[in-house]
Amino acid sequence: MCALANIQKILIANRGEIAIRVARTARAMGIKTVAVYSEADRHAGHVRVADEAYYIGPSAPAESYLNIDAILQVVQQSGADAVHPGYGFLSENPEFAEKLNAQGIIFIGPSAEAIRTMGLKDAAKAVMDNAGVPTVPGYLGEDQSEGTLLKEACRIGFPILIKAVAGGGGKGMRHVPTESDFGEALKRAKSEALKAFGNDRVLLEKFIEKPRHIEIQVFGDGEDAVHLFERDCSLQRRYQKVIEEAPAPGMSEQMREAMGAAAVKAARAIQYKGAGTVEFIVDASDGLRHDGFWFMEMNTRLQVEHPVTEAITGLDLVEWQIRIARGEPLPKTQGELRFEGHAVEARIYVEDVENGFLPATGKLEHVQFSTLARADTAVASGDSISPFYDPMIAKIIVKEANRSAALAKLQRALEETELAGSVTNIAFLSRLIENSSFQEMSIDTNWIDTHADILTAPHKVTPREIIAAALTSLGTGSNHHDLTGFHLWSATVHRVTLQHKDVLYVCAVTFAQNSVTVTYEQETYSIDYVADQMILNGRALPKVYASGAKLWVFSHGAIEFERVDPLQRKTQQQGASNTILAPMPGLITSISARSGERMSEGATLIVLEAMKMEHILSMPREAVIDQIHVKEGDQVTGSQVLISLVQED
Ligand code: ADP
Ligand code: ADP
Ligand code: MG
Repeated sequence: MCALANIQKILIANRGEIAIRVARTARAMGIKTVAVYSEADRHAGHVRVADEAYYIGPSAPAESYLNIDAILQVVQQSGADAVHPGYGFLSENPEFAEKLNAQGIIFIGPSAEAIRTMGLKDAAKAVMDNAGVPTVPGYLGEDQSEGTLLKEACRIGFPILIKAVAGGGGKGMRHVPTESDFGEALKRAKSEALKAFGNDRVLLEKFIEKPRHIEIQVFGDGEDAVHLFERDCSLQRRYQKVIEEAPAPGMSEQMREAMGAAAVKAARAIQYKGAGTVEFIVDASDGLRHDGFWFMEMNTRLQVEHPVTEAITGLDLVEWQIRIARGEPLPKTQGELRFEGHAVEARIYVEDVENGFLPATGKLEHVQFSTLARADTAVASGDSISPFYDPMIAKIIVKEANRSAALAKLQRALEETELAGSVTNIAFLSRLIENSSFQEMSIDTNWIDTHADILTAPHKVTPREIIAAALTSLGTGSNHHDLTGFHLWSATVHRVTLQHKDVLYVCAVTFAQNSVTVTYEQETYSIDYVADQMILNGRALPKVYASGAKLWVFSHGAIEFERVDPLQRKTQQQGASNTILAPMPGLITSISARSGERMSEGATLIVLEAMKMEHILSMPREAVIDQIHVKEGDQVTGSQVLISLVQED
């Protein structure tokens, strides 16, 4: 074997939780780390943990985290001898790997050639077909005319899926139920693909009706390849993973072996070096069958959900990546690899679930993760969420002896997660976990989308939550340890008015010697102090974080209340508003309205691009457009007035 390359300093060409995750292992291996950051990330978590940090450009990813020249310059400046790309950004960019190698810098990942081969879904499927790996039936042809594509779609048989060959993250993908939907779906898929990937080529695939997504973690050292078992990522929203687990529920040993062997065959076919994931679609209409899986794509990088594999194998996948990058052979043979227990990961996003999962921004006033679980994150109290990057702010990972114990623990860990200041999907995640269909794994990848109503229905605030907020607003509550000072209040009744969304909640609080009573909606609740907790009916009240007049009750995620003075409350004229405001900061990419035009309710007004997604702002009611205050290409702030409507009586 040739001499091992020396890696003493790794530049991490990424941000957020994955940059911190990579730094953790590098440090444990005695390797120094270099962070790079954009304007928006000057004070970000990944900058705080690295040994050195360098500014690489403005906030827009194209000008910083995707700016190869700026990153190469920092490689030189810092004297890093290797680069870890994380995931997203440049992780699957073959030119980046090539340019680094040309300068004698190690790219911690596969060869540029392997990335290129797997980068386009059609080419990758062709390679897999040749290697004898089963693939989903479809059309991979050169001819991209609408006529040919439609003919091929009919040959495959509806329903079909249109996929951007350069696609990723569920973008450029359209489900087409019937022939009559084809034209419109093709147009949308192509325009989305062109925008996101600069390539509008598509492939067609048979749409598997009750699909589960099961993927195999592979590692290669250029000579040999092994698999580290499977992950089940069937719980998806719009083709994006939400909760992942390992092993896959209901997986037989025979099927695991068949899928593992196919994945290893795929990795060997391209002399794969490093960490990769071979994604398969599985037909679960009749349980899992060892011949019912097909190759979808290979991701030539570390995966967001790699921690569940780490949890069941006890291995550190970033350590494996680094060891292989410096020229070591695979640390273990297939026969030496084992797993035990069951691991589950939940992705925490700042997003407004009740409002169509709109990505959110804001300042995180208070951040505290549960100690029950592994939390991979980059955010801390006081951090701001910028609109420029992925809204995933953390991953919570648990492992237990079996699936039901793991799900129960994840549920507790989510309940104990305290994130105040922006909206998150925590309550949504909790609902998923407690749902019996998910508990029994009788779901498929479309399950969230078809059950969105029940999963995203607004939470009805409970008396416990109101009481916790009310007590905290009076300067006591679950954050206080005893009743010290309460006698001063004794026998006084305090009227507290709290607002959540547009609803007011009023209660009366009476302090006595060692207890408190709260009257709310004609019911009286008596709260006892036991140890350092406030107990109502034998159960502790939820925790609360307070800042100024704002209160966040950590129950069903974080319920935000504001203590209001009823006399000073502003009258709000919701619904009848004559202005269209930006729901969040973003870029105006198109305007479909013209001043003076009458438009009907629901008509598209403006497309706003924020958090890597497009948001369509539409007419709240039928009206005439008065003025348009912005133009295409404008960067707007949250709540900025974009359009005004003519008032009609
Ligand atoms: P996977 O296929 O590994 O589950 P996804 O496809 O859901 O992952 O997400 C990977 C994507 O995450 C990347 O392609 C990118 O769009 C996005 N991403 C990039 N950087 C980050 C980051 N630091 N944290 C979270 N997501 C990121
Ligand atoms: P991406 O690069 O965006 O991750 P994938 O090809 O991996 O694209 O597909 C993403 C998701 O779309 C899968 O996890 C699965 O839920 C769904 N999907 C992909 N192909 C099919 C198919 N042929 N039939 C049904 N669902 C599919
Ligand atoms: Mg995929």
